Amino acid sequence: MLNILVVEDEQAIANLIYVKLSDEGYRCACAFDGKRGADLIESETYDLILLDIMLPEIDGYELLEYIKPMGTPVIFITAKGAVDDRIKGLKLGADDYLVKPFQIGELSARVEAVLRRYGKSEKQLTIEDVFVDTESRQVTKSGKAVELTVKEFDLLVELIHNKNVALYRDRLYEKVWGEPFTGETRTLDTHIQRLRKKLDWEARIKTIFRIGYRLEV
Ligand code: CA
Repeated sequence: MLNILVVEDEQAIANLIYVKLSDEGYRCACAFDGKRGADLIESETYDLILLDIMLPEIDGYELLEYIKPMGTPVIFITAKGAVDDRIKGLKLGADDYLVKPFQIGELSARVEAVLRRYGKSEKQLTIEDVFVDTESRQVTKSGKAVELTVKEFDLLVELIHNKNVALYRDRLYEKVWGEPFTGETRTLDTHIQRLRKKLDWEARIKTIFRIGYRLEV
């Protein structure tokens, strides 16, 4: 499930976005000020961040500078008529912007477009002979169905979305299980072993010493 953070101090707007994105199948979190936004960004991995510019505590520009090195896509939310804000936001590396008040349909279109640009929104994923349909949640290898549990499937999608990237055990666990990592690695390790076996990916899912795992493609 793709993870989106909304940093917006107008709670009505944040809630509207939250309801719409949750409805569309994204996992969504909200922060109502910049400080809380920074805390969340530090403790979780997001696939996309929607960022209001005028925020209490830490403003959107400052947050963007902090987010940029992580490579997470950002869509700015700006007030009507604030052309300078839009230009500045794009110059600082935002991927797109939305002007308030916006149509909620426009928001989902922008979100989808940015995620697609980052290769994160494909509904069908292919890694050589393995084919994954994220809508029907079906997996095949060389045309034959592979039966995966819910968590094995989510883990597989997460690995594919981050192919060739070393993923830390704690982050990977929290992303797939949606709960804090306690340091107990057996659950994750067991799921990885089963995935390797079911997909014949012993060599493809590499164990990275002291870090976690990497899907090599
Ligand atoms: Ca604001």
